[in-house]
Amino acid sequence: MEYCNLIGGEWHETAQSVANVNPSDLSDVIGHAALGGADDIESAITAAHAAAPGWAASTPQQRFDVLDFIGSEIIARKEELGHLLSREEGKTLAEGIGEAARAGQIFKFFAGEALRQRGEHLASVRPGVEIDITRQPLGVVGLITPWNFPIAIPAWKTAPALAFGNAVVLKPAALVPASAHALAEIIARSGLPEGVFNLVFGPGRKIGAALVESPRVAAISFTGSVETGRGIAAECGRRLKKFQLEMGGKNPMVVLDDADLGIAVEASLNGAFFSTGQRCTASSRLIVTEGIHDRFVQALSERMAALRVGNALAPDTQMGPVVDERQMAQNESYLQIARDEGGAVRGGERLNRDTEGFYMAPALVTDTTNAMRINREEVFGPVASVIRVKDYDAALAVANDTDFGLSAGICTTSLKHASHFRANAQAGMVMVNLPTAGVDYHVPFGGTKGSSFGPREQGAYAAEFYTSVKTAYTQP
Ligand code: NDP
Repeated sequence: MEYCNLIGGEWHETAQSVANVNPSDLSDVIGHAALGGADDIESAITAAHAAAPGWAASTPQQRFDVLDFIGSEIIARKEELGHLLSREEGKTLAEGIGEAARAGQIFKFFAGEALRQRGEHLASVRPGVEIDITRQPLGVVGLITPWNFPIAIPAWKTAPALAFGNAVVLKPAALVPASAHALAEIIARSGLPEGVFNLVFGPGRKIGAALVESPRVAAISFTGSVETGRGIAAECGRRLKKFQLEMGGKNPMVVLDDADLGIAVEASLNGAFFSTGQRCTASSRLIVTEGIHDRFVQALSERMAALRVGNALAPDTQMGPVVDERQMAQNESYLQIARDEGGAVRGGERLNRDTEGFYMAPALVTDTTNAMRINREEVFGPVASVIRVKDYDAALAVANDTDFGLSAGICTTSLKHASHFRANAQAGMVMVNLPTAGVDYHVPFGGTKGSSFGPREQGAYAAEFYTSVKTAYTQP
């Protein structure tokens, strides 16, 4: 399968292409993705720029019909799309199908939002003058997406962009071209006018950077690493371009003495290791009070040892492989750093399976302090560490002692502590007796501090990023 660029409604091959390899089976080459260059991204921006005014003038019904078509088809094909996603990214089949369904639901949600384009009418302080406040499309938006949610993140950026009347150039992550291509193929048949949605594959440092630098791209929405996000922020700041960043996390899961042990262990297992820990919302710091610490570590270790790590497409697999060798090496390097700093590591070994892939046992690092690098920097793999604390106050202080602020969880049966934590955890999302990862599709997603920048993604709040507000004064 060749994954071509979609530019101005036409599929374009490039002279060179890149193999898309299954991380569960390195002998399985799923397809080849175009390797776009400067000309391709310029053509895509030109096509989007030409199509933007027409789409900005489209009716809510036209936008609804397009988004509803896309959402319906994704949901109808969620098993096939989920299979493709798991094959190229390595999350389990259940997770892949769940993600595909979520992408469809997101398009359905924004189909509804397209019908609900609201404004405000206010009386002026001046007699006889009327004021209307409306939301306007931005023009062309550049969407840069990571590999860990190959269809959901392109969906949660593309759907609101289109719903609010913008044209799109999508630059997906190099590691996961098949899901982005499948999404683009559906969009291309949705009735959306040609050029409103464009897809360009190619190296982020060239293609992504060209999107950020282009004066014809009005705004950039990015999800990925902190380092790339900082570079995009600096460039957009220099150009006074609107931007939105979703980056890493070092998400705390607090477990108090009064927690239901079963709930705490399952929430931590899910939050830390599902999707192979490759989630920005993963529970990477398990902050546990003294009275439950040993029982919690024992029970979690037993559950981890029983997790079935294997081929993402095998029905009984509970944790798929790491996405690639670079990520595997990063995970191993952080485990070594943790050992060097005095942590005790359980698990984390490379595993052999029937097919050659990047299999890694889930790892738990105990005896850590919050000052250690394992607790300060995002690993982005099946690695969690445990920090023992005296009581709730100490737990909250440690939870908030981080540069990040995406998601924070607490397991407790105390209403008092749960309420206090909800109010005082420095995070964009707070979970009580639930994993830090796993969120609904119709409500805002995003964080504070170094995790996010700009307006929230998803839900009705997405309008903040994908529109600008116009205040019109009229003397009839
Ligand atoms: P990156 O931040 O490098 O990539 C994210 C997206 O940005 C990709 O589409 C990438 O393209 C693109 N990109 C890369 N460089 C630039 C640039 N200079 N200008 C514009 N766009 C660019 O993350 P990686 O995929 O390389 O992963 C590296 C690490 O980042 C991971 O190990 C993990 O720690 C973290 N990460 C965090 C995520 C999160 O959700 N918090 C998601 C993914 C990664 P291309 O793929 O072609 O390089």
